[in-house]
Amino acid sequence: MAVVSKKIMDKAVQKWGKSAQILTLLEEMSELQKELLKNINRNKDNLDAVIDETADVEIMLAQMKYIYQIDNAVRERIPLKLEKVKRRLED
Ligand SMILES: [Mg+2]
Repeated sequence: MAVVSKKIMDKAVQKWGKSAQILTLLEEMSELQKELLKNINRNKDNLDAVIDETADVEIMLAQMKYIYQIDNAVRERIPLKLEKVKRRLED
C-alpha cells in the first residue's frame, strides 16, 4: 500500500497542481538534507527533526510517483539496484 492514499493525492494535485507538488518534494528533500547535515556536521541532537523531515519526504515522494505514474516501475527497479549493492558488498 502506498504511503499516501490515492484520494488524498488526487485532492492535493487538484488543489495545488503537479508542478507545485514536485517543487514541494524538492523543498522537503532540502529540509531533510539540512537536518542530516546538522546531525552529522554539528553533532546536533535533532532526531525528532530528522524523523519529521523523513516523513515529509516520504509523503512527497509518494505523490511524485503518483503524478508520474511510476510507482510500479520504481518497485520493480529496487531489486535490481539492491542486486548491484549486493555485488559491491561482495567485491
Ligand atoms: Mg518539512
